[in-house]
Amino acid sequence: MRASLSRKSGPRAVICSKICSCSAVSLYSRPLLAQRRQASTLNHMVTTTESFSKPINNSFNYKLAVKDNVATEGLPTQCASKILDSHASPFEATIVTQLRANGAVVVGKTNMDEFGMGSHSVNSMHGAVVNPLSDKDAPLSAGGSSGGSAVAVKTGDAQIALGTDTGGSVRLPAAYTGVIGYKPSYGMLSRHGVVPYANSLDTVGVLANSIPSIEDAIFSSGIYMQHDPNDPTSLRTATRQRCSKACSSNLPAMEKLAIGIPIEYNIAELDPGVKAAWENVASQLEAQGARIVPVSLPATKEALCAYYVLAPAEASSNLAKYDGVRYGVRGKNGDSAGDTLYSEARGSGFGEEVKRRILLGTYSLSSEAIDNYFIQAQKVRRRVQQDFDRIFRLDNPLYEERQFDLADMEADMLLDNKRGPPQVDFLLCPTAPTFAPQLSDLQNQSSVDAYINDVFTVPASLAGLPAVSIPAWPKDGKFPVGMQLIGQFWDDLRMLRMAEKTMAILRAA
Ligand code: GLN
Repeated sequence: MRASLSRKSGPRAVICSKICSCSAVSLYSRPLLAQRRQASTLNHMVTTTESFSKPINNSFNYKLAVKDNVATEGLPTQCASKILDSHASPFEATIVTQLRANGAVVVGKTNMDEFGMGSHSVNSMHGAVVNPLSDKDAPLSAGGSSGGSAVAVKTGDAQIALGTDTGGSVRLPAAYTGVIGYKPSYGMLSRHGVVPYANSLDTVGVLANSIPSIEDAIFSSGIYMQHDPNDPTSLRTATRQRCSKACSSNLPAMEKLAIGIPIEYNIAELDPGVKAAWENVASQLEAQGARIVPVSLPATKEALCAYYVLAPAEASSNLAKYDGVRYGVRGKNGDSAGDTLYSEARGSGFGEEVKRRILLGTYSLSSEAIDNYFIQAQKVRRRVQQDFDRIFRLDNPLYEERQFDLADMEADMLLDNKRGPPQVDFLLCPTAPTFAPQLSDLQNQSSVDAYINDVFTVPASLAGLPAVSIPAWPKDGKFPVGMQLIGQFWDDLRMLRMAEKTMAILRAA
């Protein structure tokens, strides 16, 4: 382990191991629920407990905050939803156990958008999370849905925070709050014990203040190679080994690197300040010898629409189990009111946005709509994946070498896009099109306005690729711009090292 996550010894460690010596389950009781920090002005923690979890290896190492859709044994796991208000998980998520085995101490659960659905951490039964960079009278969005985890890292309540990233929920809050947000390759980190939103897209992500601390927690610890038999989407050990063989972890000299700038990401809605930061980062990398290459990812334009068909469709199926019988609180009328049993529990338990997603998803899966929506969205998803595979220098280690059939591409596609791929190592683009908006402005926005924030994050999610958001601080700017690096599947470690290098270059500039 490197020194970035300080492995503490001395009085702090002793105190901590004493506090931690009580058994986890016996500590859980109703009063713990009452420890919710309602008074916190940032509203980022929903349960705090310094004393709850001891690191399994018993050496106090670092503080870990956990998003409230990740199960922590004995602690409430409520997904910011009234329907799970009384729920405490009977078991611990694999990723939490793995991190505790490597020195993490769980310090609490973080606020979020209900079931992960949102981009601003405002769709929560606990109320909105507030960005610590806000001026006193103008609270800003902390981004969502892992806003509470980003704030926990920003405020120093935790050195590492777990979030989940289905379409950008780790990267977007990282961008708005000025921390680092890493979404791993799909299937790398176990989702056992993570409440599903959209299974084919859900990943556990990590928020932190430094790249080496992420490297320590996930890579030096060996967690990235661990298959979890309890998670059917966790990659098998043999596949991990094959992928690792295909991807070197060493970052070559800058002169040997090609960084792609996706031209379709230069959208009309891009804030000029964000665009300037993007250009600045690209030119700083170029000045250090990297080759900056414009690339085209034509399917990107449809990626957002495809995501907002696929994610709600999966959500509508996943959330069917919250019916007041298996999960959720039964309404006052119980089952005495005949067929209103489910509707009462679901009607009062779910928030507006979750209901909207369930309705959207149920519709797009219905027999009259499935061909026009769900099936089309799956086709777009495949084209988004092919776009990425076409432009990365590394082959996707999950597939046999593939020939790209020009006949598969739209007839109106520019000839340039059909020609041979430019072959880049990483893509560089903003994480979000704008700076963090004010919470008061969000009240006048439609839900579609919130969806647009995800325009740069969903393509990597649809393709299952690793991506990381790092903060770039404009010279005279008060607020950070999140810059996103995207890598080929399983090229996570090299991508993180590229992110570290980029941050060092920006610091020195
Ligand atoms: N904002 C996106 C959504 O609401 C992404 C959420 C996520 O990644 N959990 O679906």
